[in-house]
Amino acid sequence: MPDLFIDGEWRSGSGTAPVLNPFDASVVRHVDQASAADVDEAVAAARRAFDGGPWRSVEAPERGALLRRIAELLQREKEEIARTETLDTGKTLVESRIDVDDVTAVFRYYADLADKDSGRLVETGQAAVVSLVVHEPVGVCALVTPWNYPLLQLSWKVAPALAAGNTMVIKPSEVTPLTSIHLVKLCAEAGVPPGVVNIVLGDGPSVGAPLTSHPDVDMVSFTGGLATGQSIIRASADTVKRTAVELGGKNPDIIFADTDFELAVDYAMLAVFLHSGQVCSAGARLVVEDSLADALVAEIAVRAAKIRLGNGLEDGVEVGPMVSEAHRAKIEAYVQSARDEGATVVCGGTRPSDPALQQGFFYLPTVITGVTRESRVVREETFGPILTVERFRTEEEAIALGNDTDYGLAGAVFTRDMGRAHRVSRALRHGTVWINDYHPYVPGAEWGGMKRSGNGRELGPTGLREYQEAKHIWHNTAPEPQRWFKG
Ligand code: NAD
Repeated sequence: MPDLFIDGEWRSGSGTAPVLNPFDASVVRHVDQASAADVDEAVAAARRAFDGGPWRSVEAPERGALLRRIAELLQREKEEIARTETLDTGKTLVESRIDVDDVTAVFRYYADLADKDSGRLVETGQAAVVSLVVHEPVGVCALVTPWNYPLLQLSWKVAPALAAGNTMVIKPSEVTPLTSIHLVKLCAEAGVPPGVVNIVLGDGPSVGAPLTSHPDVDMVSFTGGLATGQSIIRASADTVKRTAVELGGKNPDIIFADTDFELAVDYAMLAVFLHSGQVCSAGARLVVEDSLADALVAEIAVRAAKIRLGNGLEDGVEVGPMVSEAHRAKIEAYVQSARDEGATVVCGGTRPSDPALQQGFFYLPTVITGVTRESRVVREETFGPILTVERFRTEEEAIALGNDTDYGLAGAVFTRDMGRAHRVSRALRHGTVWINDYHPYVPGAEWGGMKRSGNGRELGPTGLREYQEAKHIWHNTAPEPQRWFKG
């Protein structure tokens, strides 16, 4: 079956490209690649479906029911989707299953929200006037996603975009497109009308760029790297498109010395090494109180060396490989840059020696001390299993370090002092702050970044508003001549 879905039909592309399993570099399968003409056709189909199609006039409760059907289909095919996600990304099957459940929850959340927005009456002080603010869909949305949480990131866009009544063209990462194709199949099976959901496949320059700069696209919702986000925002200027960009992070995990030692070790490792650090909100900067630092780092190093790397499909494997050879090379360059600057690699800092892992793109969990605030490995997002260590002595220093980054996506504070926990959490300029926890999120709470981590919010009620235009309808129920012009 072909992989491009345009105007309700599955179509072949202008060629194919292999999708690799990062565990052993084997080809999972070849997928169709879109041409510039395919992009144009997909946008035209979405434009027709929005301007003239039935979707916009479908009542909100019916749109909600459709989202609920998609949620049911996701659960029906949970095992197959989870397995595909693991083959595609290298993450463990346990994580992939959690992803499918989270994605299902997102569709259910927006199904419930779809018909709850009946507009807002505004008091005008004029008895004869009804002033109503309603929310309408933005139009044709280009949804562009990264490779680390392919299905999850896509669901944060597709579910609210559909709930709001938009039409869309999806462009998943060329590295991990498989579960996005699967989701589109489920949308079609659930009864999404032709042209409402389309998918084109290919890389950024040949497919992503023409899609996101297309004059008939009203909005671009993008999750990915900073440089790509900046180029999308620049390209949006010509047609004044709405953009919502979710970019990278360089997230501080701040640990005060009063934290229970076992909790501090356990969460610091979870924060940075989950999914081999390929998480936008990964706690890659350990910001630790001086008196705790030596003991904490020593214990993390011992346990990091015991993390079980392997095939995500196998029971007991704790983390998989880097997603690609190119991405591993980037990680290696960051560790080399730290070494060149005189930092100390306390553990890891190399590929594993295990013969069973030589075909894949593995890299050992790595802890680096002796870094400065100017080090590249501290300032830039490595997106890999690299933990750097910075020390503080006072609460003010902890806050200053936590905010000393161009990014502002997420961070955590660990302490038993609840007053301090709340002071620090309010002072941090990050879109999410966890207190005595790391990583959890819920569909009902907004997710997104400050500063260079992005300009929008996904999830929660704001995640729906991203895909809506506010319209003010002023109804004068008893008009009388105004006699403004006397002649
Ligand atoms: P990337 O920017 O390289 O690619 C993301 C997507 O953009 C891909 O589909 C790619 O093909 C496409 N693309 C590339 N160039 C393009 C162009 N010129 N025009 C339009 N589209 C283009 O990012 P990646 O390497 O796939 O993902 C990793 C990044 O994603 C990290 O920086 C990570 O922090 C970020 N991320 C952020 C969040 C968040 O919630 N803020 C979540 C997950 C990932």
